[in-house]
Amino acid sequence: MQDIFDTHAHYCSGQFNPDRDTLLAALPQAGVVGVLECATHSGDAPGVLALAHRYPYFHAALGIHPESLGEADAPTVAVYGGDWRAELAALRPLFEDGAVIAVGEIGLDHHWPLPAREQYELFEAQLALAAELDLPVSIHDREAHAEVYELLRKYRPRGVLHCYSGSPEDAAWLVDQGLCLGFGGAATYKNAKRAQRVLAAIPHQAVVLETDCPYMSPEPVRGSRNDSRNIVHVAEKIGQLWEMDPQAVLTLTAANARRVFGLA
Ligand SMILES: [Zn+2]
Repeated sequence: MQDIFDTHAHYCSGQFNPDRDTLLAALPQAGVVGVLECATHSGDAPGVLALAHRYPYFHAALGIHPESLGEADAPTVAVYGGDWRAELAALRPLFEDGAVIAVGEIGLDHHWPLPAREQYELFEAQLALAAELDLPVSIHDREAHAEVYELLRKYRPRGVLHCYSGSPEDAAWLVDQGLCLGFGGAATYKNAKRAQRVLAAIPHQAVVLETDCPYMSPEPVRGSRNDSRNIVHVAEKIGQLWEMDPQAVLTLTAANARRVFGLA
């Protein structure tokens, strides 16, 4: 397989510490042509940039994930005393780096007990930053569809809703706004009927593939540490839904990824 473009990865995760460089050096031979490595706070952002400088097929997204408002070891909490404005100001100079092609991972999460107003304000500030810098976004929306869509309506960003979990009706609206929807391991799970209905209904040009690695390994390797090579399993699932060869799914979605992130 070739043309594997992973639009949402976290190779800075400690789960890759034992073999990160060996793995990343081997990915191109396995057909990986692009990775968007997403920061989650100011603590991992320098590592994201370092990977993007080291590996030509890597690109960087910088942002503060909503979970960083709640994790005791995240800089928002640990370094800036919970002051996300101070953290975002510290992150800001890193956007000058030429490897940065997106603002992410940003969004809203009502699955975990995170402060509702603060995460909304943080997400809004980062959408405003994306507009100011004219960059696309990679958005995390977990059990927060209504508020996420409210801010999308207001700021009209381009980019990707990663690990899309909404309805087919919402998907149609999001695609009308010019956004792409990201699909990964979750789309291969047996109970993923909704994601599969969405995939069957939306224009193929709006679909990009992702891992969210080290998490969310697809079937049949569910439960193991994920990496970009496993995207072939997602392409096989989508190929069944679209009655398309998995290689054609990879080539089409890689072109979509380059278009939405301005690499074409
Ligand atoms: Zn992520």
